[in-house]
Amino acid sequence: MQEINKSTRLGWIGLGVMGQSMANHLLKAGYRLTVSTRTKSKAAQILAQGADWAQTPAEVAHQADVIFTMVSLPSDVRDVILGPQGLLTTARPGAIVVDMTTSEPSLAVLIAEKAREKNIESLDAPVSGGDIGAKNATLSIMVGGKQDVFNAVRPLFETIGKTIVYQGPAGCGQHTKMANQILVAAGIIGVCEALLYAWRAGLSLETALQSVSSGAAGSWGLTNYSPRILQGNFEPGFYVEHFLKDLGIAIRESERLQLNLPGLQLAKQLYDQVQAQGYGRKGIHVLQLALAHINDLTWDPQIQNG
Ligand code: NAP
Repeated sequence: MQEINKSTRLGWIGLGVMGQSMANHLLKAGYRLTVSTRTKSKAAQILAQGADWAQTPAEVAHQADVIFTMVSLPSDVRDVILGPQGLLTTARPGAIVVDMTTSEPSLAVLIAEKAREKNIESLDAPVSGGDIGAKNATLSIMVGGKQDVFNAVRPLFETIGKTIVYQGPAGCGQHTKMANQILVAAGIIGVCEALLYAWRAGLSLETALQSVSSGAAGSWGLTNYSPRILQGNFEPGFYVEHFLKDLGIAIRESERLQLNLPGLQLAKQLYDQVQAQGYGRKGIHVLQLALAHINDLTWDPQIQNG
């Protein structure tokens, strides 16, 4: 197993809401970094700070020993790792591929098998903590793969996150993330319904939040989403279309495990409606507007009771 130190050459693919900040932490920690992403303009900032550019994932793997991916959908993960211009076409034996995208557990297992055929190591390491966690390097990172590979990569995870936990063999990181998304689904519905109820009942949202967020109902979602909802700021954050991707994966996995999870199904139905109302590229807290719409109301917390 390669020992990771400051001469280890790192690669990063996917510079969106999350990847920008995460890759930046590695660069600031003093590692040499080669980056690539679909829309090159999104790399401008990190290139100005000293990262190198590569045109394709294959080119990144040609230059790097440990390569991270933080792209959008499972189909993108397939492309950048297993595709004809993907990482596995050029990665050297002993290289480590770390996929931090929220993706399918079965795809993580397939990547581990394909990588092993070439003596390349892989980890599935999705994250939780949102854009704020990515900016502040406080993400929770849930990791599947071989324990010794996890141990080797751990110092790199420590520059990006705060809670870093090994979950088991390939796919277990993604399974843990699905459990996380089932929790997020239940939580965000509660946050938006409670705010709509409090508003309709004529309460001051600020004082109501002061009471409920410090009692048994307090949560990350309540603390971080309610200020944005009160300001009418529905920018991502976490895209509705990515959440729908996660809910779809969680439903397919729960079916495979012969589970019926009605709360998860309900969240998927609600978010299908949110998407149909044109909010796919907004943050998931935009459920507030969709719930108001279902009730023939227009969400405006400045106006009493709708
Ligand atoms: P994002 O802003 O859409 O970032 C994804 C980046 O990957 C984009 O820059 C995208 O390029 C690039 N990309 C996608 N497919 C690619 C491909 N085939 N080749 C090269 N680059 C590609 O999404 P994000 O919010 O950072 O989320 C990334 C992943 O983390 C998603 O799976 C999401 O579910 C998960 N996640 C998000 C959050 C959150 O709060 N945002 C929290 C935890 C986990 P373009 O710019 O051209 O689209």
